[in-house]
Amino acid sequence: VKQLARAAERNPRINCFTHLYSNSDVASQLDRSRAKGKGKGRLEEVTVGVKDMFATADDAPTSCASKMLKDYRSPFDATVVKRLRDAGAVLVGKTNMDEFGMGSSTTNSIFGRTINPCGPRGADGQSESKAEQRVAGGSSGGSAAAVAAGLCDIALASDTGGSTRLPSSFCGIYGLKPSYGLLSRHGLVSYASSLDTVGVMGREVEGVWGAFDVMNAYDPKDPTSVPTHVRDRARKAHQPLVERLGEQNGREKPLEGVRVGVPADLFPSALFPSALLSSPSTLSPIRTYLSTLLTLGASLHPVRLPTTPLALSTYYVLASAEASSNLARFDGVRFGYRAEEGEAEGKEGLYARTRTEGFGEEVRKRILLGTFALSAEAFDNYFLQAQRVRRLIQLDLDSLFRISNPLHTSPSSPFLTSPSAPSASHRAQKGIDLLIHPTAFSTAPLLTPPSSSATKHASREPYIQDLLSLPASLAGLPAVSVPAGRAEDGWPVGVTVVGQWGGEEGLGRVVGAVE
Ligand code: GLN
Repeated sequence: VKQLARAAERNPRINCFTHLYSNSDVASQLDRSRAKGKGKGRLEEVTVGVKDMFATADDAPTSCASKMLKDYRSPFDATVVKRLRDAGAVLVGKTNMDEFGMGSSTTNSIFGRTINPCGPRGADGQSESKAEQRVAGGSSGGSAAAVAAGLCDIALASDTGGSTRLPSSFCGIYGLKPSYGLLSRHGLVSYASSLDTVGVMGREVEGVWGAFDVMNAYDPKDPTSVPTHVRDRARKAHQPLVERLGEQNGREKPLEGVRVGVPADLFPSALFPSALLSSPSTLSPIRTYLSTLLTLGASLHPVRLPTTPLALSTYYVLASAEASSNLARFDGVRFGYRAEEGEAEGKEGLYARTRTEGFGEEVRKRILLGTFALSAEAFDNYFLQAQRVRRLIQLDLDSLFRISNPLHTSPSSPFLTSPSAPSASHRAQKGIDLLIHPTAFSTAPLLTPPSSSATKHASREPYIQDLLSLPASLAGLPAVSVPAGRAEDGWPVGVTVVGQWGGEEGLGRVVGAVE
């Protein structure tokens, strides 16, 4: 098992795995995969890294990179893990992450920080001096670094507010966040349930979409899993574009007739004219990507997304509120860490000490913020207001597309009665098929920024990096970060392509044509 040996050798430096499976375990997985026989196992011998937020019923703990679950072992496989195994995939390790998915740099982890292996001097993570090391992005930074370094073929990630796309951009790989509700979250530890999605990473489009197809099925064990008849409706709605792309495949202009929206509001120079982040511009690889689209026959159209600046605060109110509720289950009684019992302190005292000791600083901060947003005096101004703004952002995005959201085509849908919903003829003439924007404001930031100690607590910078990913998260739309080349500093740059709900197939064909 070649990759496993390399992973064992390289992991101490990159720190992308929290657990590597033993040689004998991987060998027996391989045997099972081969025994399945040809044809059946669509992912035969494909090696997978699994974010340590997915339950696996084996030797590996499911830790969420938290002291709270450090030694927790799951009695069952997450549905997506099971589907990958059934198709013949082989798990090589569990990957590092920000604790419970909270963060954008894989630095909030009890296992330590993941180091980005994709510097200008080759994908080995060996060449930079300590001061030059960069973050892998987060929260699925371990998955991205493992894939980028070639230590596994694909990786499972999660994406609540950019956690698949941002690290993919920083590590120069493909990272797909599918439409909300398509991939089962049964066995993915909950962070913010109205936003959580299962992400897939890989070095090629084919690998990512192959794994997505295997996992894409209704699961009765996930109450938010979209039922089969709605999936069928979405497939029909997207069929014209998919067919067209199929017919044009292999021609000189395979993307003829594809309308791509370019939203100025999601380009860093529009959001922060004074160049908020002082790192080298990521725009030149993105320009090249746009002109490749043109060469292949697509047309580009300027569009507006005026609600963009509201996405960051909306997201952090909603995600924290939902997290405070979801993480209430970690009380020291049912699973995971339990503080030493103090004398005569009672149950409440035990819960409180367990949670204070078991959760890291960022997680405690989110729980406190979220609990406040849900409290009686703040509920209307924070939580409800954020829900309303979320709906505006959803409508804002929906109105751009050629087809309306297939999830909302019943006559009672509030989408249809919205005053901002465009008419069918307007959509047919002016609507776009895809939206394109930079994934991040910059290449990967330094692991230890020079000013870190002074500004650590006050800095909003790590949160601001999420902004460009958030509209698609809040609207539940499919989005993929695509490697677009390298910036002047030699580090990777990602560009994100967003589709209408359920549009994964067309999205894959378009980014595949550019690849
Ligand atoms: N930076 C985001 C957060 O901390 C990313 C979350 C995610 O997608 N898991 O909430």
